[in-house]
Amino acid sequence: MKIGWTLAQRAIADHYEALAREHVAARSEWHYAREQLDQGAWRALADDGLWRIPVPEELGGHGMTWWEFCAALEGIARGGRDLGFCLSLIAHAGFLRSLVIFGGEYHHTVALPKMMGGAIGATALTEMSGGSDVARVATTAHPTAQGYKLVGTKTHITNAPVADMFWVLGRIDKLPAKRDISVFVLERQSSGMQIGAPEHMFGNRSSPTGPVSFFGLPITAGQVLGRPGDGLSLTYATIALDRLLYGVVGAAYLEGLLQEAIGFAEQRTAFGRPIADYQYVQRRITNVKLAIESARWVSYAALASLLEEREEAALMSSTAKLIGSEGLAGAALDVMQIFGHTGYQLGHHSRNVQDALGTLIAGGTSDIQRKNIFTQLLRLRKSQRAATPAVSGSAA
Ligand SMILES: Cc1cc2nc3c(=O)[nH]c(=O)nc-3n(C[C@H](O)[C@H](O)[C@H](O)COP(=O)(O)OP(=O)(O)OC[C@H]3O[C@@H](n4cnc5c(N)ncnc54)[C@H](O)[C@@H]3O)c2cc1C
Repeated sequence: MKIGWTLAQRAIADHYEALAREHVAARSEWHYAREQLDQGAWRALADDGLWRIPVPEELGGHGMTWWEFCAALEGIARGGRDLGFCLSLIAHAGFLRSLVIFGGEYHHTVALPKMMGGAIGATALTEMSGGSDVARVATTAHPTAQGYKLVGTKTHITNAPVADMFWVLGRIDKLPAKRDISVFVLERQSSGMQIGAPEHMFGNRSSPTGPVSFFGLPITAGQVLGRPGDGLSLTYATIALDRLLYGVVGAAYLEGLLQEAIGFAEQRTAFGRPIADYQYVQRRITNVKLAIESARWVSYAALASLLEEREEAALMSSTAKLIGSEGLAGAALDVMQIFGHTGYQLGHHSRNVQDALGTLIAGGTSDIQRKNIFTQLLRLRKSQRAATPAVSGSAA
């Protein structure tokens, strides 16, 4: 069982922390105010090899693991100080991993090199009818002599306004019901699809979201990711990584807030003493630390489960998402209150709250994580029972 980072992984985290401080943090406010993804920072990270880290060498990557990628992401969350930017990275990361695992020739020779080389990826599941019930998607690929024509609309998609590559959940017409859900990978094109206007969000404004519509967009059979009809299991495998990365990012992001909160509490005085002397303030500060440690360690456990393909991987990913996002939102509120009126003024601390609240919904709501945890508990219980031989006879 892995516990903590190796020296080499720590060096990766430090490297990306410095890179993100230079490229992400420096322009974060500017992009937030304009509701834009910092594409310059995205390019700098891609040029540095961020997306090659977890990809095998035979596919053009650096042949490391998702542990090294997580170390890099932690560094970016710490140095970049921009939760929205991290949400955009998470959307790209799950897409990348599913190309590696499930990809065929098109995905490995066309899509993956682009995704590693600086293209921006969007993972499109949600439709106007709802995001929680992914099996209800209406986007449909209609078979043609050359492949398919894709018809449908996705909404609230991270990176969609600026994305070069799309991972799209839909159905294949004429396949049997419940065996028709499939995933399509496609590049941004000027005809057959339209990117709608970016949505205005309460927070995470440096991570543009928006709709994308397909009007009979031609796609080849080779662009279907995995086998036709395997879309649901592929989706769960893909979002499992995304979900636990919320915990990884949340913990790393909160480290900076914790230091800011302690620093402020030590120098701010009330009733003749630093507010750090008061137990109610100490409680808020320790809440932040508890959120960091619980999110971090459950995310590492979830990543280990996922990479080792353990039965409890889906349960652990949802647990990491739930603990990570709720811990982040609660801690951001605690820090805002420690800063009093300064915290509530439009600025760094109020933005933290706004951004953190988005993580309660993006990647599946907290209630859906609980639903998934419960369903997985029952499934594991059933499989453990099936694996345990029945005890015959009775104890005398
Ligand atoms: C910042 C941000 C980024 C996003 N990025 C993406 C993206 O990149 N790709 C993408 O596909 N989507 C994205 N989304 C959309 C997101 O995945 C959905 O908003 C989310 O899954 C919820 O779907 P919904 O908004 O349609 O709510 P609904 O599914 O309509 O749910 C409404 C409410 O009902 C509750 N609910 C529904 N079913 C149940 C149930 N069975 N039990 C208990 N409660 C239930 C939900 O928890 C929620 O509170 C993003 C959202 C945000 C906020």
